[in-house]
Order: sequence, then C-alpha cells, then structure tokens
Amino acid sequence: MDVKIGVLALQGDFDLHRQVLGRIGVASVEVRKPEQLDEVSGLIMPGGESTTLLKLMRAWDFVPALEKFHAAGKPIFGTCAGLILLAREVEHPSQLSLGFIDITAERNAYGRQKESFETEIEADLGQGKAEIKAIFIRAPRIRRLGPGVTRLAEFRGECVMAREGTVLVAAFHPELTDDASAHQYFAGMVRSATT
Ligand code: GLN
Repeated sequence: MDVKIGVLALQGDFDLHRQVLGRIGVASVEVRKPEQLDEVSGLIMPGGESTTLLKLMRAWDFVPALEKFHAAGKPIFGTCAGLILLAREVEHPSQLSLGFIDITAERNAYGRQKESFETEIEADLGQGKAEIKAIFIRAPRIRRLGPGVTRLAEFRGECVMAREGTVLVAAFHPELTDDASAHQYFAGMVRSATT
C-alpha cells in the first residue's frame, strides 16, 4: 500500500513540496482543515512565517488535531518555519510551539548578510554521508538538541536537520533544490509508520 502525505496549506510554499512529492511518485493533498488530517498518513509543515502560521493554526483549531496526529504515531516533517513550530523551545523572540521535538530553535539566526543563502551541507540520510545542496531563507538555528534527537545533516559543524522518533525537521528549504533526498527520507518514515 502506498501512502498519502498531507502538506499544511495555511501559508508559505506548500505547493513546491507537493511538486517534489509528485516527482518521487508520492500522493499528496493540501491540508487546510484539521479534519483532513484523518485522510493522510504523514504531514509536511512548510516554511513561511511561523508567527503567522501559528495564528492561523490556532484560528483553525489545528493544535489539538496535530497533537492527536502526533500521538497516533503519524510522521511530521517541519521545514524552516515548520521546524520552529515543532520545536520544544523557541527563542528570539520566544513564542508558543508544539514541542514535538526536543530542540531549541532560534529564529532568524544566520545573521544579516547571510539571511538567505545557498550552500552544501553534509547529510547522512541512511545511505552514507553525502553533500546535498541546501537553501536557507531567514532560517532558524538549532541551538540545543535533546538526548533523544538524531543529527541527520550539518552545516559548518552545526545540526541543520534532525529527527526524534516520527518527527523530522530541517532548517533549510528542501523543496527549492532539485535534490529530493529529504522528501524521499520522509516518505520512507511515513511508509514504515503505516506498515
Ligand atoms: N524567519 C521565519 C520565521 O521565523 C522562517 C523563515 C522560513 O520559513 N523561510 O518564522
């Protein structure tokens, strides 16, 4: 059985995530209402503006539905603003978050000149170490990782992609490069959670 992945479509670049999923042959759907979470076996929370996303999530009553989704063991992948929303703690400034992964995220933390940049990062997504291209846009920095969190990719020695159980986060935008390995990895997590 193949899986269907939802892409949270409240704000941000959700459509590009669906395009990448399409390229790797994974069915997807835009999720605009909490009840649509029942139809999918994994969820991508895209980049955008985390404060706005948080407001929209609360206005649409997404928080309890996401808590239920996570408690049911369904995988969630948060990129950039999505990482911020999934973190245990958020700094600069602090704001509410779901706390599904034991990390501290500092918002907009890559400095003025480098607010947005493209670089190579060193990733290990289960097939050995590989350099992958990564685009950072006013990206958060992972300032602390809890003991249960695995580092999956690094940039200049700092973790930029991490996983704890069914929760995956990336500080960069994997949907903006032609490398689909982050989406492949997440699709693998979703498949193993459903079998
Ligand atoms: N700077 C944004 C925030 O703090 C995140 C940027 C992004 O998702 N590209 O919410």
